[in-house]
Amino acid sequence: MTAQYDVAVIGLGAMGSAALSYLAARGVKAIGIEAFHPAHALSSSHGDSRLIRLGYFEDPSYVPLLKQAYLNWQALETRLRSDILAATGVLQIGKPDSKIVAGTRASCQLHGLAYEELGREAMASRFPAFQLDPDEIAIFDPRGGYLRPEAAIAGYLKLAAQDGAVLHFGEKITAIEPDDTGVTIVSADARYRAKKVIVSTGVWIAELVPALRLHAQPIRQVVAWYQPRDGFAVRPERMPCFLRDEGEGGSYFGFPAIGAEGVKIGRHAHFLEPIDPNLPNPPVNDRDTALLDGFIAKRLPAAAGQRVNAVTCRYTMLPSEDFLIDLLPGDPRIVVASPCSGHGFKFASVIGEILADLALDGGTALPVSAFSFSAMEDFLAKRAAPDAISQTSGG
Ligand SMILES: Cc1cc2nc3c(=O)[nH]c(=O)nc-3n(C[C@H](O)[C@H](O)[C@H](O)COP(=O)(O)OP(=O)(O)OC[C@H]3O[C@@H](n4cnc5c(N)ncnc54)[C@H](O)[C@@H]3O)c2cc1C
Repeated sequence: MTAQYDVAVIGLGAMGSAALSYLAARGVKAIGIEAFHPAHALSSSHGDSRLIRLGYFEDPSYVPLLKQAYLNWQALETRLRSDILAATGVLQIGKPDSKIVAGTRASCQLHGLAYEELGREAMASRFPAFQLDPDEIAIFDPRGGYLRPEAAIAGYLKLAAQDGAVLHFGEKITAIEPDDTGVTIVSADARYRAKKVIVSTGVWIAELVPALRLHAQPIRQVVAWYQPRDGFAVRPERMPCFLRDEGEGGSYFGFPAIGAEGVKIGRHAHFLEPIDPNLPNPPVNDRDTALLDGFIAKRLPAAAGQRVNAVTCRYTMLPSEDFLIDLLPGDPRIVVASPCSGHGFKFASVIGEILADLALDGGTALPVSAFSFSAMEDFLAKRAAPDAISQTSGG
């Protein structure tokens, strides 16, 4: 007999694990199905750390969602009795009128958020790991820091199971078949019936949501870790997480020496290389490491010791570099979540709540209209010509 559920969540990465936890906490009969295992190396959610920041340069309209995300991360920590978020602060470095610096300042001012503007001398005495050009400044966001992605996903899955959700791993869903009385989801070995389905399958989203085939583009990302030359300068108390606007050279993100592997850095969207999510990640090559080695030597010399690790990861870019979180047009029983574009993890705690709202209530009080299918269509219609993905965002 086909098992029956109120809600089935397909894909248990950052968004799916959080959604499943919210559903189970509300007492509904929920199942989560994951093709591999939590935070695996082909997903978008591995690599020890993800930035969180409140003064959002991309657009001030994200700030209300971020405030709720902070509350929800705190609630997760309380339930787990362990730390997921470390508030090291985040520095956003660049020329005063650069997208990241000007955008962060504007976002903080609009929402009355605390921030500090630091010139080159203040940076040298307070955060000496960073090298600034004479015409650069930094905006310090004291609420910023980093999240532990693997621990967050494991935590949400643990709570979901505790609250009664069914979890399946190593099972790929190959089809979603809606009919008059519900939705059937199909894997190689089983069929499940659900009243509602959440599709949160990261770089594979277009396989189950054909409406995103032309728009959700998986791309390759590379990050590397370095042993510091000056271990004191790169400790989290002395070196906050950072974003750095290099103008035409894109933007970089990085973390202090959190673990034994040292300082981690990456360039947002890296070389903008499209990938097929079903092929193995192209291995890290000399061009990748030359880019990151060059950045760290120039901008963070205290951290520029031996490179001890470099790995690939995957973004799913949407044309607007925003998120897509909505009911599927034509079938409101299917909830679609593609919140990546290189900056989605910090929102997972609130997106999980939103996905549960959308599945159970058909709507949410949280502000997500900017992430609808119609907002994406409007964006595409207004765009005069297909733009390249920008390399100034992320993290
Ligand atoms: C290197 C890197 C750095 C980043 N830095 C930041 C940062 O600093 N701050 C930030 O906020 N964001 C950051 N991001 C973005 C953030 O990590 C992503 O937005 C987020 O992880 C996406 O989560 P997800 O749940 O959509 O996808 P994933 O976590 O990848 O989960 C999707 C899951 O679905 C499963 N799946 C796929 N197809 C199926 C199927 N058919 N059946 C069953 N299961 C399926 C997959 O196996 C996978 O586990 C970064 C991303 C990368 C790659």
